[in-house]
Amino acid sequence: MPKELNFKQELTGCFGFPVAENPTQPMIEAAFRAMGLDWRYLTLEVRPEKLGAAVAGARAFGFRGFNCTIPHKVAVIEYLDSVGESASLMGAVNCVVNRDGALVGENTDGKGFVASFRALADPSGKSMVLLGAGGAARAIGVEMALAGCSQITIVNRDEKRGRELETLFRGKLCEATKATGHELAVTYVPWRGDFRVPAGADILVNATSIGLFPDVDARIPLAMETVPQEMIVADVIPNPPTTRLVREAGAKGCRVIDGLGMLVGQGVIGIEYWTGMSPDAAVMRRALEQVFA
Ligand code: NDP
Repeated sequence: MPKELNFKQELTGCFGFPVAENPTQPMIEAAFRAMGLDWRYLTLEVRPEKLGAAVAGARAFGFRGFNCTIPHKVAVIEYLDSVGESASLMGAVNCVVNRDGALVGENTDGKGFVASFRALADPSGKSMVLLGAGGAARAIGVEMALAGCSQITIVNRDEKRGRELETLFRGKLCEATKATGHELAVTYVPWRGDFRVPAGADILVNATSIGLFPDVDARIPLAMETVPQEMIVADVIPNPPTTRLVREAGAKGCRVIDGLGMLVGQGVIGIEYWTGMSPDAAVMRRALEQVFA
């Protein structure tokens, strides 16, 4: 019996601007190949004024879904049919899923972080120091709180941005965690000089862009002597994965999560949303390690 010919590949992708340096395609396509799926993930440069047309195009081409990265995570919402709970709490979408023709906005960044965190520990009842108050910090804070984290200390240089995140967390997020049966305490601390980690904190997360290529030796203003060995230290920077913070915390004996953990974690959840199947996270991490080798 001759093999049935099918040259039509299922489409997924990433909309961003600029987007050329986004390393998601090799990671996702390696997963598709390992799953035996003849699917594509296209890295697509979409200018802000063309976002509506690009989403209409994705509908016309029958995309199974797509990621949104800077600067589209908030702007894309008006072109979608609905948004999921986390995306609605964050006011940002990084993953769009075609569910029977309806485009639904989800946010997988924080969920990816929680998945990589759970490989080391249970977030329940933990106290977390969050450095930064941008999109990554917002996503991590929301999902760690929904996963049971009981205290979040936001540390940010720009006071307005720090206070805005504190207000969001104390309002909508605290209500959402209450509905899951636990209390959340949130504080904002302005970042002045080297930050001293308060006693009793269990988790430290760098959710700033300090250390991102090409500024690979940039130092986070942090008093490393206040980071105890028992602490779990995470960095969101994917490039390079071994940041100065990852190196220094590892040398102290802390358990460490690098930025590839979150990147792979969100990719796994995106593929699950799009295909209904679970990809091999190890295959995805290896593909990224080759990119950043
Ligand atoms: P945003 O621009 O939204 O936020 C950047 C944050 O970094 C702000 O809080 C900003 O503080 C802070 N910051 C930048 N430079 C400094 C500095 N010199 N000193 C103190 N604070 C500083 O970016 P995102 O939150 O979207 O992204 C942050 C990082 O997370 C990026 O490097 C990105 O690559 C990474 N990321 C990784 C992901 C992964 O899967 N691994 C997923 C998403 C993001 P201020 O408000 O004071 O300016």
